[in-house]
Amino acid sequence: MENVVVFKQKVCFGQKYMLEKLFPAILCVVTCLCTGCAVNPLTGSDEFMLLPVEQDVEIGKAYAPQVEKHLGGRIDNDTLQEYIEVVGDKIARICHRADIEYHFTALDHKSVNAFALPGGYIFITRGMLEKLQTEAQLASILAHEVVHVVARDTANVISKEIGMTLLFAAAVIPTSPSAGAVMAAQVTRQILGLRYSRKAEREADFGGLTYMVRAGYDPSGMVELMQTLESIGNDRPPEFFSSHPSPENRITYIQRRIEQRYGDASGLRVGREEYERAVLSHLRALTKTRSRLGAGKARRQK
Ligand SMILES: [Zn+2]
Repeated sequence: MENVVVFKQKVCFGQKYMLEKLFPAILCVVTCLCTGCAVNPLTGSDEFMLLPVEQDVEIGKAYAPQVEKHLGGRIDNDTLQEYIEVVGDKIARICHRADIEYHFTALDHKSVNAFALPGGYIFITRGMLEKLQTEAQLASILAHEVVHVVARDTANVISKEIGMTLLFAAAVIPTSPSAGAVMAAQVTRQILGLRYSRKAEREADFGGLTYMVRAGYDPSGMVELMQTLESIGNDRPPEFFSSHPSPENRITYIQRRIEQRYGDASGLRVGREEYERAVLSHLRALTKTRSRLGAGKARRQK
């Protein structure tokens, strides 16, 4: 088990010294904009960060509706949504940043994907849910995404790649919805296109394993997930594979970590029947209804 490291924001010492000595006025502005480093609670290392931790939740909240809209909206099934929430909450409760409220949402989109916005907003698509077979596999994805939230990977990438543009856009949305709409759509596309470093992905895999086991799930679910995703070729989810040119390596290091740390998985939850009942059966019914409606529409158009 990793030690819990208090998550806090601080201005890097060297940077602060320079600014205090040379640019006191600038220091005021920069501190207001919260430029600095933040401690990653999973690794204990300092990371460059433009966004204050409080702003994570604001950004997630502001962009979650945009992301939902962009990717087909929520899947219209309460049982399925509640099940995703319940599995996600088991992970969120035991993670290093359990002080914020997490939101787990299934999106009605055929792409195979799962991703996190800063501040605890986690999404998984219909295309991805259809590829899974067990609750443990679902838990492995949600745990991986929770690590991105805890480590503030999304906020970190935003700091590096979008930076001030997003800060200003995020500030515009709550006060001026009309002016912010176009900007929000642009920034949403930018957020969906963000890619994490290989290092961040590896940490999300290892941290995800820790979290899923703490939450009571069989860690083999993560290996099965990677094998499934590897086998689907071009449909591979960008969030999971873009920064990993060699998925085989990833499966190998996950397997090795399981052997080293979680040798005895007896008694841990797999949840094949539960996943079938709460997710797959509903998705099949949804597909059937849609193809029936589609066939009816085609007949009427003839
Ligand atoms: Zn990831």
